Amino acid sequence: MNELLLQYKAIFDGLDALQERMLATTIKWCDKNTGSGNYDGLIDFSQLLEQAFSELGAVEMVALPDRQVIDDAGNVVDYKSAPIVRVNLPQAGKKSILLVAHYDTVYAKDHEFQSCVMQQDGKLNGPGVADLKGGMLVMLQALIALKKSGLMERIGIEVLLNPDEEIGSPASGAYLIERAKYHDVGLIFEPCLPDGTLVGARKGSGNFTVRVMGKSAHAGREIEAGRNALVHLMKILTEIDALHAARPELTVNVAHVNGGGALNMVPEMAVGRFNARLATVEDAVWMQRQLADIIAKYNEQQGYQVELFGGISRNPKPATDANLNLQNFIAETGDMLGINVAYKHTGGVCDGNNLMQSGLPNVDTLGVRGGNIHSKDEYMVVDSLSERARFVTLILMRMAMGEFNFIRDSLKSEE
Ligand SMILES: [Zn+2]
Repeated sequence: MNELLLQYKAIFDGLDALQERMLATTIKWCDKNTGSGNYDGLIDFSQLLEQAFSELGAVEMVALPDRQVIDDAGNVVDYKSAPIVRVNLPQAGKKSILLVAHYDTVYAKDHEFQSCVMQQDGKLNGPGVADLKGGMLVMLQALIALKKSGLMERIGIEVLLNPDEEIGSPASGAYLIERAKYHDVGLIFEPCLPDGTLVGARKGSGNFTVRVMGKSAHAGREIEAGRNALVHLMKILTEIDALHAARPELTVNVAHVNGGGALNMVPEMAVGRFNARLATVEDAVWMQRQLADIIAKYNEQQGYQVELFGGISRNPKPATDANLNLQNFIAETGDMLGINVAYKHTGGVCDGNNLMQSGLPNVDTLGVRGGNIHSKDEYMVVDSLSERARFVTLILMRMAMGEFNFIRDSLKSEE
């Protein structure tokens, strides 16, 4: 058994004793709607987090820029962003850990799924229980345990809780990427699979919108004077669709179109949306170039104006040496607690991709065990609250005590 487990037995036992309170808090948190578009709900919740995390130290609210969205009518619409809730506890000259969790969920304010229901089989069904408010609580309790142990001064800690992960972190992503430069390791609290399997490598992903402006004309009197934006968009999307599978593991999903109206009018405007996922940074560069070429080709045709919005918002997170080193350490730490840790690759993305962009090795599924996320059947395994809190506490303690060999893929920046 690891000596830390014996030496801090009271603290680990204390986490077990917190199980019921953690469950009650998870229910309280998940009964509050924080859909990514629910600005007022996010603001309210950020204040609740401010209070909860003040147990660790001073809490700062980091204001984020507005995010811009192209609506179905082709207009650019500005949305206000809720803040990042931040706790920064640096230790000069020591190693440091960046801990990240998001407080938005995929369930809008008017979604039917708004509250928690306890199920028979040790599961809690509720919006955001697994993804990831349960995990946020795991993070908080583990940090409080680290503080109680007196080991907190041995390692730098920065906590970032962001409001827009479920829509690709459009407002918070740049801040996460920037902060990731100054740390040695990243821990993110997305849920793991029900059996405890964590995510190893992740693909990169991007959401795109193409807007075509043509020229309206009467279909009977002067159709030749018109420029059909909808047809033009179809041609563009057909070429974009052809990029699917053009490189290994590259996927393209043309998902939504809008445009046109009255049958006697040439459509003046059309908007198309698609998602792309890719395995390597080289694929991302290739994809951006292909898209730029297609857009330029159709934009040059007389009478049309074609624009591309969006981009690869998350670069791939490959299994680098530094990431494997961290994965092995976390698996070894799991062994000490009798928790079996396996890793699986996925095409899903999260803020772990953003941290990796700054060369910060990270494991991003340290939250609760759970499943059926992004559906009204989302659940967490209730016992995993205290189980994962113990797990993360031991990870933090071992890192603080110098039991981890910190390796980065690129040099850490100094503040
Ligand atoms: Zn999530």
